[in-house]
Amino acid sequence: MGGATAVASPNMLLENISNRPVLTIAHITDVHIRAEEGAPSRFTNCLEEIKKHKIDFFLNGGDSIMAADYDHVTREKTLEYWTIWDQCLQTIADYEVYSCIGNHDTWWAAPSKQDPMYGKYYVVQRLKIPNRYYSFVKKGWHFFVLDGNQPGIALDQEQFEWLETSLKALPKHSPAMVMSHYPILGTTPILVGGGHSDFKALKNLFYQHQDKVKLCLSGHQHLLDHTVYNGVQYCCNGSMSGFWWGKGDKESAGDYYYQETPPGYSIITCYADGRVENKYYPHHF
Ligand SMILES: [Zn+2]
Repeated sequence: MGGATAVASPNMLLENISNRPVLTIAHITDVHIRAEEGAPSRFTNCLEEIKKHKIDFFLNGGDSIMAADYDHVTREKTLEYWTIWDQCLQTIADYEVYSCIGNHDTWWAAPSKQDPMYGKYYVVQRLKIPNRYYSFVKKGWHFFVLDGNQPGIALDQEQFEWLETSLKALPKHSPAMVMSHYPILGTTPILVGGGHSDFKALKNLFYQHQDKVKLCLSGHQHLLDHTVYNGVQYCCNGSMSGFWWGKGDKESAGDYYYQETPPGYSIITCYADGRVENKYYPHHF
């Protein structure tokens, strides 16, 4: 008989399995891409840095382009933004990118509502997403990408019912993550507004499914905010563009900061048992 052979007990094996992440995800938001300030190369350099985190895919929280939503924005300008967006995303062409629509992504100034570039449907096409809101599954985690771009910042009734039905249909303890452009709960809506007005209905829905909903991601604020309520983490993950790629103003705590928040991105680590960690990395590009 030979020497001792290390044999892992079943408990040790279980522990190892649950302590190994099943997914590592990058959450970028508020890229506000534009030609000026060297934004395209700064953004692509940051995407290169993010790849070093060995991520599985990207979540993009919206406001991908600088701003197509104002009255004076032309077709040419809107096309220019999206062309730069496409060029930058070549850097991560090997990765899946799941985006949501931000308030600045949509061109409302089209000459007519029949114009192919008018409204959200065009943004859906440019972001290569299946619908203005949608869900998908990865490694047992369920992802719900929302469209809060209704008057007052809210889900429309159809969308709310879809979310309600979808959560109900998930088997018990299926971990789920929600991404909206706008925070659902948090500190920053108190400071600067900009949060979902239907937060109470959503909070109640998540409480009904507290065995499922673990994390709600947002952007829009360009501020970093991590709130935990009823066991759900609400992470407003700063912004890629900081002060819209500019140096900042008197409220900026540092170069490129928006107020106290530096530009950056988050890396999210998901475990099979529903644990999830969100870490914000300031970038220096
Ligand atoms: Zn926004």
